[in-house]
Amino acid sequence: MTPPTKGSPGVSGSPDKDTGSTQPLDFIRTIVAADLVNQKHDGRVATRFPPEPNGYLHIGHAKSICLNFGVAVDYRGTCNVRFDDTNPAKEDVEYVNAIQDDIRWLGFDWGKHLHYASDYFERLYGYAVRLIERGKAYVDDLSTEQIREYRGTLIAPGRKSPYRDRSVEENLDLFARMRAGEFSDGSKVLRAKIDMASGNINMRDPTLYRIRRAIHHRTGNQWCVYPMYDFTHALSDSIEGITHSLCTLEFEDHRPLYDWVLTETEVTCHPQQIEFARLNLSYTVLSKRQLLMLIEKGLVSGWDDPRMPTLVGMRRRGLPPKAIRTFCDRIGMAKRKNVVDAAVLEHAAREELNQTSPRVMAVLRPLKVVIQNYPENKIEEVDLLNNPENPDAGTRKVPFSRVLYLERDDFSEDPPKKFFRLAPGREVRLRGAYFITCVDVVKDGQGEIVELRCTYDPTTRGGSSPDGRKVKATLHWVSVEQALTVQVRLYDRLFVDEHPGEHRDFLEAINPSSLEVINTCRVEPSVASMTSGDRCQFERLGYFCVDPDSSDGQLVFNRTVSLRDVWAKIARTMKAGG
Ligand code: ATP
Ligand code: MG
Repeated sequence: MTPPTKGSPGVSGSPDKDTGSTQPLDFIRTIVAADLVNQKHDGRVATRFPPEPNGYLHIGHAKSICLNFGVAVDYRGTCNVRFDDTNPAKEDVEYVNAIQDDIRWLGFDWGKHLHYASDYFERLYGYAVRLIERGKAYVDDLSTEQIREYRGTLIAPGRKSPYRDRSVEENLDLFARMRAGEFSDGSKVLRAKIDMASGNINMRDPTLYRIRRAIHHRTGNQWCVYPMYDFTHALSDSIEGITHSLCTLEFEDHRPLYDWVLTETEVTCHPQQIEFARLNLSYTVLSKRQLLMLIEKGLVSGWDDPRMPTLVGMRRRGLPPKAIRTFCDRIGMAKRKNVVDAAVLEHAAREELNQTSPRVMAVLRPLKVVIQNYPENKIEEVDLLNNPENPDAGTRKVPFSRVLYLERDDFSEDPPKKFFRLAPGREVRLRGAYFITCVDVVKDGQGEIVELRCTYDPTTRGGSSPDGRKVKATLHWVSVEQALTVQVRLYDRLFVDEHPGEHRDFLEAINPSSLEVINTCRVEPSVASMTSGDRCQFERLGYFCVDPDSSDGQLVFNRTVSLRDVWAKIARTMKAGG
């Protein structure tokens, strides 16, 4: 069968489908397509993305979002967003709202399919009662520690709780009284009655409900018993009529429990759980617990620090959502654990930004240049292409005058062999303007270069010479008088270890120079109209994005990515022993 054409009433705002099902089918789409052919779920496809609102979404979640929404789009299905909000102690509305913002920002729209596991608390309670009635669940008085001890190990079977054989009536009574608040937190739990000798520890009478007096962000103090993840998740999927419950590999050992819950509660809709490998990214940690530690220890400024692998962090850093979707499509779907090179994401970002970012000139570390033969008060406007990759992007006017700033790094008084930029006596091109030649170097009392004296060739306007003379370098520049001063934040990877946490504590692998703040940057005046979130390329320097910290008088720019992969070069040099 050919998959139905894309786009469905249930999933709108779908990502640009220049990616989608034109690719070879991954193993999940292969299963879904076969199920459709076999009319397995009455020809329906329904997926869901089930975040727990206990932190912000990260790039790993993006993979799951792109998969779940992508499958729904490809097979004319629906994709629900369901908050798995069963642990009030760790959850917060701040996260609920941020997660929705992030999913929308990424380019997906759940339409009317927004759900909360907490909306099912009453029904879930009813399913638990049904399990008790069927002799499949019991109230246990063992403490948490005792339950752990009785559970056994991978090599030793567990032991039965002395409370395991309570009568159905007693269990029903105790469970009702648990709900009514008669018992203290932790004094009793409801457990599934499965098999204490199972080779799968998850099947050794797992806990289904615990007593916890906590204010829930949606249900307030209505409940003092809360259902556990495995029980809630399977039944929420069933209640919503999910057909394919896509989750990460660590849930593979939970699948028998997922199926047990659905079978023993005798629900009619029994979704199929399929596991895929979670995304791991080199030089990155992707666990909410670890990300929270980075924040709490003050190593980053918050969830939206541009060095964080969170979607809010990446957005603030300037990554376009399309680059993230392209990345998720490109890494594919694996069944086995793997680590994706962080460079793959950076590459996707460069590709997208190259197409979409207007070019501007900015000088990070300015060196003053006086063009001696250029008239004193003259200002010319030179025309520059906004984006050579996009003919529709047009041109802009940039002021040129006698006193300019060039990048300090673009001058060498005593140039090494492969240095082709400006040097005494050498001629270079100023982008879109003129050829200039350095004729003198001015130093201060300490011998520090403070200024260059140059001459320009008036016949080279626009940056080419009528006599066909060639130069080896084209430099960016700004005119001193019209330039704006902005702050620039240069980010690098947050960790220096490829797999942080593998050989030493992940906090020890922090890159001490992951942020460099530069306050001297001068930019061309066209930048003045940019506002928070706007992106551009600083020619020859990288892609940048205006930070929300900017105020009227002071723009702040984050570097999203450099123009080239500097880490690959470092790795090559290290391999070559250099
Ligand atoms: P963390 O380990 O960071 O706390 P989590 O799995 O507990 O993440 P959830 O909010 O429960 O976070 O995740 C929502 C969904 O996103 C789940 O279906 C989960 O499998 C998926 N997911 C989480 N991390 C990744 C990842 N690194 N790669 C792919 N999918 C992921
Ligand atoms: Mg989880």
